[in-house]
Amino acid sequence: RLKCNNGGGIERTFSNTLMTISLNAIGMHIPDHEVKRHEFFGTYGVARDITDRKRAEEVISYQAYHDILTDLPNRMLFKDRLGLAVIQAKRKLTELAVMFVDLDRFKLVNDTLGHVKGDELLQQVALRLKDCLRRGDTLARQGGDEFTIVLPELRDRQDAKAIADKFLESLHQPFDLDGHEVHISASIGIAIYPGDGETIDELLRHADIAMYQVKALGKNGHSFYHNSMLDVSHQKIALEQSLRKALEQNELEMYYQPQVDVATGRIIGAEGLMRWNHPQRGLLSAGEFLPFAEDNGLMLPISDWMLGALCRDLLLWNAAGGENIRLSLNLSPQYLDRGDFFEKMRGALTRYGISPAQIEVEITENICIRNPQYAIDQLNKLCQLGVSVAIDDFGTGYSSLSYLHRFPIHTIKIDQSFVKEIHDEQGHYPVILAIISIARGLGLHLVAEGVETDVQARYLQANGCTTMQGYFYHRPISLPNFINVLQLERGDQLEPPRPHALHAVPHHMTAIQA
Ligand code: C2E
Ligand code: CA
Ligand code: CA
Repeated sequence: RLKCNNGGGIERTFSNTLMTISLNAIGMHIPDHEVKRHEFFGTYGVARDITDRKRAEEVISYQAYHDILTDLPNRMLFKDRLGLAVIQAKRKLTELAVMFVDLDRFKLVNDTLGHVKGDELLQQVALRLKDCLRRGDTLARQGGDEFTIVLPELRDRQDAKAIADKFLESLHQPFDLDGHEVHISASIGIAIYPGDGETIDELLRHADIAMYQVKALGKNGHSFYHNSMLDVSHQKIALEQSLRKALEQNELEMYYQPQVDVATGRIIGAEGLMRWNHPQRGLLSAGEFLPFAEDNGLMLPISDWMLGALCRDLLLWNAAGGENIRLSLNLSPQYLDRGDFFEKMRGALTRYGISPAQIEVEITENICIRNPQYAIDQLNKLCQLGVSVAIDDFGTGYSSLSYLHRFPIHTIKIDQSFVKEIHDEQGHYPVILAIISIARGLGLHLVAEGVETDVQARYLQANGCTTMQGYFYHRPISLPNFINVLQLERGDQLEPPRPHALHAVPHHMTAIQA
């Protein structure tokens, strides 16, 4: 505060404002030669208003501790708050909870609707989560679609459970992103101080592990950390490491699941499904390890391997008389995303002398969401080459119908989840009927997947779907077994034709299984 030296006797009025200044001042002296001293007579100084600089510094330090998108504390501030809460809890002998919240399917929304909408969704999620909390709780964004929460001064675990339930319920309401209705859910892991850990890092790590457990068990839920989960997460890390080795050590193998035309009872195609002969854990199916591959950048080398393996196997099955049997391969979105899929495919077919007409690629509806035009171009080139395209898991992804017009499609595969619903041959299953009529209307080939019972097969056939794939006919089988099946079938041709394949228990089923 500066005051005026009211020397002149003139009254002056000042308005007082408080501001931040930087001040520098120099004493002024008159040299006094007699006493050889300088006599002080005043101060000369400059006060600079640095309000703007101060404000900028505050913004910078705010940004260093907050997430710009959601305005929530970031991971640094979170750790700081958690640290304080732990000290308090130790002193007051109370418990506290750390939660790890990870949105399910966020990536899909991001890929489908774009990053701008994805960001908007994160902002809306942040607001909803915040609304569920008390004052004194800290909600932070850890990065991506991950949020962390500290609930200090917990009365008991039930409090944490109640908040987690509240989170899930509030996220359950659909989100409106400029007219797009979006549904998401979350997986929540909870660790309690001091039982589940006494340090910041331990608590966070254990909440994270509990969250992964929820993901693994089907998402959309919450779970408290438990020591037994450590084994699971160690297993996961071990799986990841050994998957890298599996490729080098030739532990992967393609299995084939026949597709049967029930009108004739004959195999008309087979889908290649990857298997891993794990040295300790035995035969693992694709669903057990490919998701890890997707998350760890292993999908590209694995897909490269798959192309080669399929071609080599196809030569063998052709030699066994299967030239008329189409091979369907699953195309990972990541593989299609990378520039050279088409070239690789064409290269492999040429190298092995395989006719493109014998190949079908199965894609899911989510395959071309990141870079649709590019994916469509690739698929078009494939079609020109003579390879056909099937939509896998039809009806379960985003915007199924709009894709049907965007690139050439030859086949749609009715997803297993719809087939599972069929329990009664006389029943009415509108989704199945709708898919069948779409296929008919567009002149597409139709395959029903996951057919497990006689009832399902009859219902599908009665309503016009005649190509089927599922355990009722064959499980996925190794190449030698598949070749056996083909040869058995060729042998059959020499016998008098059987009346109707569908009504008999498929004869290969018991003889040859995976
Ligand atoms: P998908 O393409 O939908 O494959 C069908 C899955 O259902 C396979 O699981 C198959 O074994 C299983 N299945 C077949 N018939 C029945 C049935 O009657 N009942 C039941 N409950 N299940 C049946 P799998 O082999 O674990 O594959 C899971 C997914 O992994 C596949 O789903 C596919 O998306 C992917 N995948 C499999 N092999 C490959 C591959 O070589 N490359 C790529 N990129 N993806 C693959
Ligand atoms: Ca498939
Ligand atoms: Ca499928």
